[in-house]
Amino acid sequence: MEILSCTKQHEHFRKRVRDFANEEVIPNVEQWEKERIIPKSAWKRLGEEGFLCTTISPEYGGPGHDFIHAYIVADELVKTNHFGMGPPTHSDIVVPYLNTFASEKLKKKYLPGCVSGEIITAIVISEPGAGSDVASISATMEDDGNELVLNGAKTFITNGINCGLAVVAFRDPAVDNPYKGLSICLVEEGTPGFEKGKKLDKLGMYSQDTSELFFTDCRIPKENLIGTRGAGFQMLMQKLQQERLMVSIFSVGAAEYLLERTIKFYKENSGKGKVVPNSQSNQFSLVEMATDLKLGRTFLEKLLAEHMEGNDVVTETSMAKFWTAEMVNRVANGCLDIYGEMGMLEKDPVSRYFRDMRIMPIFAGTNEIMRQIIAKRMGL
Ligand SMILES: Cc1cc2nc3c(=O)[nH]c(=O)nc-3n(C[C@H](O)[C@H](O)[C@H](O)COP(=O)(O)OP(=O)(O)OC[C@H]3O[C@@H](n4cnc5c(N)ncnc54)[C@H](O)[C@@H]3O)c2cc1C
Repeated sequence: MEILSCTKQHEHFRKRVRDFANEEVIPNVEQWEKERIIPKSAWKRLGEEGFLCTTISPEYGGPGHDFIHAYIVADELVKTNHFGMGPPTHSDIVVPYLNTFASEKLKKKYLPGCVSGEIITAIVISEPGAGSDVASISATMEDDGNELVLNGAKTFITNGINCGLAVVAFRDPAVDNPYKGLSICLVEEGTPGFEKGKKLDKLGMYSQDTSELFFTDCRIPKENLIGTRGAGFQMLMQKLQQERLMVSIFSVGAAEYLLERTIKFYKENSGKGKVVPNSQSNQFSLVEMATDLKLGRTFLEKLLAEHMEGNDVVTETSMAKFWTAEMVNRVANGCLDIYGEMGMLEKDPVSRYFRDMRIMPIFAGTNEIMRQIIAKRMGL
């Protein structure tokens, strides 16, 4: 029984994304990993094909698809010999802030460019001194006539170098209560006082441009504020749910990719001399990973169906985020063990995913924070 109601149109869309991934992503991965960035031209191709911001309505230049399309894009792009694609972050984590909270004028101004790939976005919350504790951010937003003046440093920002539009959280220094003092605004690349710092060299996800961002007496028009002033914390908590679901989609997709690859490797090599012993322990390891994956995919699809119905799935989303993030790391570790020394080769995607998946328990709210949320909602 299928949990998500996928139509022929969804299947056709998946085939298109997969063909694109095979023809225009996989052949470029080595280059992007070496250069540690995905060129803007690749974003534009994704836009031309209709693979960015799939849920944005035609009124703003989007195709107005359901969320299954977003799921398909993320699920296919994570299976391209690497995990580095910032586009699902742009489409389904950042742009939803604009789509839900921005004024009509801002939506008309920016959303068509987000859909076409002309505008790349970033969500800018983390600071050198504020990670899990979002309420403790110290970058400030102050009034000056019709303008807002922004000051502060942000770090570990996905799409930080490529971004043309930053969705940034600041605090109002005049408000003591941090839960009532955060606001979110849009800052365009090129605004005086908005500078991009260095690209961070990370353990994995080489092709994703993660960077620092700086705001020094940066002035933006007041109309660039999105949502209600002072309601930034609540807006972040609302949108973090879909971000956590995206992490689960990446995790389950990557685990599937790794397992399929490793089973193929096992079947081709087992029993042939030293490469992979046809041992019961290797078989059991593959069986356990396949079971993990089945549980993850089933849970994820049930959750996606509920998310699309608009149900409150905060507890389940937190469970899925921490469980699938740990599951894909178990799978990456288990697959590398089966590959043995071959899995240690830098060029092999198994070693690349072993590195790339290490981030999953950390971003979008660490797994400890997920457990805290669940404990609270269980009344513990
Ligand atoms: C590759 C990458 C991309 C990122 N992209 C973005 C982005 O686009 N935008 C953005 O704003 N940020 C981004 N981040 C930052 C990310 O959101 C933070 O790393 C994350 O919020 C955790 O914060 P931290 O790393 O400062 O860890 P900390 O909050 O310092 O936590 C350190 C450890 O302490 C634990 N801990 C913290 N608080 C508690 C608690 N109350 N109870 C129990 N344990 C606790 C944590 O679980 C963790 O194990 C990115 C990070 C990385 C590595």
